[in-house]
Amino acid sequence: MAGFDLKEGIYETRNASDDELWSAFACVFSSKSRNDTSYKFGFLKSIIDNLYNVDADLKLSFDQLFSKFGEIYWNLILKHGLRQKAVTNDNRETYLEQVLHSAVKKYKILEPLPYESLTAEMMLDISHQVKVKCKKYVVGALFEDTNRLFYSFSKKEEWIQINPVMYEFVCKHKIVIEKLNYYEWARFLERVNEETVAVKVLDKIDESSKRNNLAMYRQILYEEFGIKNCFYCGKTLSPDKIDVDHFIPWSFIKDDNLWNLVLACPTCNRKKNDKLPAVDYLSTLIRRNQHILIEEHRSEMKNYQGRMVSYIYNWAKINGYDKIWQPKSRKTLV
Ligand SMILES: [Zn+2]
Repeated sequence: MAGFDLKEGIYETRNASDDELWSAFACVFSSKSRNDTSYKFGFLKSIIDNLYNVDADLKLSFDQLFSKFGEIYWNLILKHGLRQKAVTNDNRETYLEQVLHSAVKKYKILEPLPYESLTAEMMLDISHQVKVKCKKYVVGALFEDTNRLFYSFSKKEEWIQINPVMYEFVCKHKIVIEKLNYYEWARFLERVNEETVAVKVLDKIDESSKRNNLAMYRQILYEEFGIKNCFYCGKTLSPDKIDVDHFIPWSFIKDDNLWNLVLACPTCNRKKNDKLPAVDYLSTLIRRNQHILIEEHRSEMKNYQGRMVSYIYNWAKINGYDKIWQPKSRKTLV
């Protein structure tokens, strides 16, 4: 992989046209780009899944990126048994497989537990090990493969900084780029895995960073912030029937962020499903987020800014989320 040994890199600042930006990705997915392992696809997914966690300078830390990377691979390798490299004569594991298997031994994990069931301490330890082993191989390689247009990076300071032109481009074409990445990744996995293992590979990749247990957020919003009404219809929530809903659908965001989570009654949650809510809910969400931010400085709320949430809402629309939902009746909350 070209570029993997670079210590740092700076993105090209010229005004790249849309054609050039597309060809940066076409290059990653073309046969020109050699892939012994699936790391590049996984790293690209880690960036895309973290797209809305960037700071004001469009930077993402290696900790953010590799904790996502570790989570994705934990589920693919341990939960689904998908190898990430062709089997060699000596049957050697990749560094990543070694890290994950030794974590299983260290913590005496008996079953292939989903990542979300691990304790916070275990997750921290695993993502640290993944970072130490994997940053070496992927950060410079993807930088080079995207024609130095995607991001700058520093391995010493452990960050990438996304090129603003590219940031807007990826936000606008997120779903298409994501699908291309999944397609090539799935083809790779089908090539290096037995047919019996390589089933529903696309679903497994897509859901590799999905957490099903949102109970923690339910508790924060209901108990800590005393939110007792359905965000959409306004009805009082009964304590045993509270759903946590992704305001902008999970399938678009691919992450659980407090700023995007609301409490809903099961009816609204079911009916809203994978749709965007009506635009006037946006200001309600922004107000609520300001309230939460004032009450407590939560790190995951740093992205709450009204403008950013509105941008993401509009990017979701551009990406095909054009069915807008609202409940038949709404109780206005004061
Ligand atoms: Zn409701």
